[in-house]
Amino acid sequence: MTGPGSELGEPGFSWPAGSRAAACFTFDVDAESAILAADPASAGRRSVMSHQAYGPRTGVPRLLRLLDATAIRATFFVPGYTAERWPGVIRSIRDAGHEIAHHGYLHESVAALSVEAEEQVLLRGLAALEAVVGIVPTGWRAPMWEAGWSSAELLRRHGFRYDSSLMDADRPYHLAAGDGGSIVELPIHWSLDDWEPYVYLPDLSGSGAIASPAEVVARWTLELDAMVAAGGLFNLTNHPFVSGRPSRAAGLETLIRHAQATEGLWIATCDEVARWVEQLPLTPIADERPVVAAD
Ligand SMILES: [Zn+2]
Repeated sequence: MTGPGSELGEPGFSWPAGSRAAACFTFDVDAESAILAADPASAGRRSVMSHQAYGPRTGVPRLLRLLDATAIRATFFVPGYTAERWPGVIRSIRDAGHEIAHHGYLHESVAALSVEAEEQVLLRGLAALEAVVGIVPTGWRAPMWEAGWSSAELLRRHGFRYDSSLMDADRPYHLAAGDGGSIVELPIHWSLDDWEPYVYLPDLSGSGAIASPAEVVARWTLELDAMVAAGGLFNLTNHPFVSGRPSRAAGLETLIRHAQATEGLWIATCDEVARWVEQLPLTPIADERPVVAAD
């Protein structure tokens, strides 16, 4: 076990034979849930709800066509509420052969919840995915990318293989999860999320400065190439209501084809990467919540 503040240990890490880095293309199907979690009164704003409904109604079908055309499998993180509101859409993701993973129930930020409340949300999300698509997910991504200090232990207790919510490494690692066990961490970063450059919702999100897909794809391509050189995991997070729009999806296709032309880059689902990393002889990282002494 590695103690608080220690650096990530590299010994024991490798990619599958013939690969020097990996890439996951992931989609968080927030739809209405992320906005409703932040401000339930937004349910009364029909245009705002339609902005979010673009994801399941128009974005997901376009993105499924894109993934089919490029012949890659992706990971879709689905809040339970989205699954219940758009069951046919979530089934279409499953039926296209993509991975479906857990993304809360109503996109709750769990950092502010008690452990008991966080567990109830986890169970409610599991029940929704089971009921709608008959799937028991192996992975979780914290809504709002706000994991708690007990999240890893809860995930392990409920049989999850991996988390994808933390930002302290280029490569996947083993995250200590209480009782001496661990789960796999697949790190993310805000610079590889489409929400920040693209989203504008008056009074809710963004400044109104909406970036060009040409510029966004250029910056993601820089990070992909540098991450391959670093031997890490390029873990891209898109949202169907954001990157399902035509020019953004076209830009994403350009990026996927660049990734496919990159020698030694393993393109896989999150679960596939986690299965590989799980069996590596790594020392789990066991950071503890920082304590700030009172004056
Ligand atoms: Zn989300």
